[in-house]
Amino acid sequence: MLKKVLGWLKLPALLVVLLVLASWGRTGHRVISFKSFLSFNNEMQQFSNWVDYLVSHSSDPDSRRSSDPTEAPKHYIDIDNYPEFVSSGKIEQDYNTIVAQHGYNFVIEQGILPWTTLTTLDSLKACFSRRDWQKAEFFVADLGHYIADGHMPFHITRNYNGQFTGNTGIHGRYESDMINNFENDIVYSGQPAQYIENPSGYIFNYLYKNYTCVDSVLQADNHAKTVAGNTSSDLYYQTLWNDTRHFTTDLFKQASFSFASLIYTAWTDAGKPQMNSTDIAMVKTGNDGLFDVSLSGFFSRSARISYQVTTDSVVVISVYDVSGNHIQTLASGSKSPGFYSLNWKPEKRSRALYFIIYRSKEFYRVKKVIL
Ligand SMILES: [Zn+2]
Repeated sequence: MLKKVLGWLKLPALLVVLLVLASWGRTGHRVISFKSFLSFNNEMQQFSNWVDYLVSHSSDPDSRRSSDPTEAPKHYIDIDNYPEFVSSGKIEQDYNTIVAQHGYNFVIEQGILPWTTLTTLDSLKACFSRRDWQKAEFFVADLGHYIADGHMPFHITRNYNGQFTGNTGIHGRYESDMINNFENDIVYSGQPAQYIENPSGYIFNYLYKNYTCVDSVLQADNHAKTVAGNTSSDLYYQTLWNDTRHFTTDLFKQASFSFASLIYTAWTDAGKPQMNSTDIAMVKTGNDGLFDVSLSGFFSRSARISYQVTTDSVVVISVYDVSGNHIQTLASGSKSPGFYSLNWKPEKRSRALYFIIYRSKEFYRVKKVIL
């Protein structure tokens, strides 16, 4: 049915979206979900047990796209295909009203990212109300993903791959290749999550604001191409990063903060239910024996980090402090299958909370430790 209505001309564009574009890439989604914990306020500490799950499931909605045909339009909105956005900078926020204005097929075809974010928030609120923590965990991971997509400029425009301005391919170059190269340079801190009175207005406002970054990335792409003479060299990516670093870091920071604030909002609306110790034990997922961090020795203030490599892979183990700063890289290199372990002792004398991140070809794990 949808195919008929869209017509054959529209299908190639839809397929490109389905097959090529993967929203911030896995790295960007992991960083945004991980650093949302930096914005958890004092009331939200029970949720810090979710960090490992949220980070390892931050790209689940992208993975669902291959098996669920209704998933793809949830990740973007080509907002500048709405004439009223071009003329007034705004569109109708209410889903039923905008469908009445433009027709169902038009709305689906432009993508439904803001309404997906809202329905995911509502589902989360319902899970909190029922104290269904395991389902809540699933919807929190999804919510973080859709909020992150709303902070990726090329998920908010019809020119989603630079195809209308001579910048074809910029989507992947910006969100995946550049971010993979400069992940350790994306440094930002959190600020305490806030209650959002009007989630719909809040979500549309960040989309409008983030849309203004589209032109800035295109300009940076043009500049980097002129400097490097190509779109693949280290010089190209270094120039692209230099030109976009400031606002890209801010997009990440705002995404993490919005994520924490919307979790806080759903939880507050549900009456702030508290997890008991059984609940906390049940949501501690990700303990599959592949990566473990324990305290070694009672007085030694050092951590024992053990991990299992299942296939030949590059393994990177890094330590971050509670403000999200990269403290140290403990391991980085190719490993063959087997069991490994190492000890780590922080240089700082006072006790502090650290996140230890394990990355391999197949796994990404986060553990917190207080040393
Ligand atoms: Zn996505």
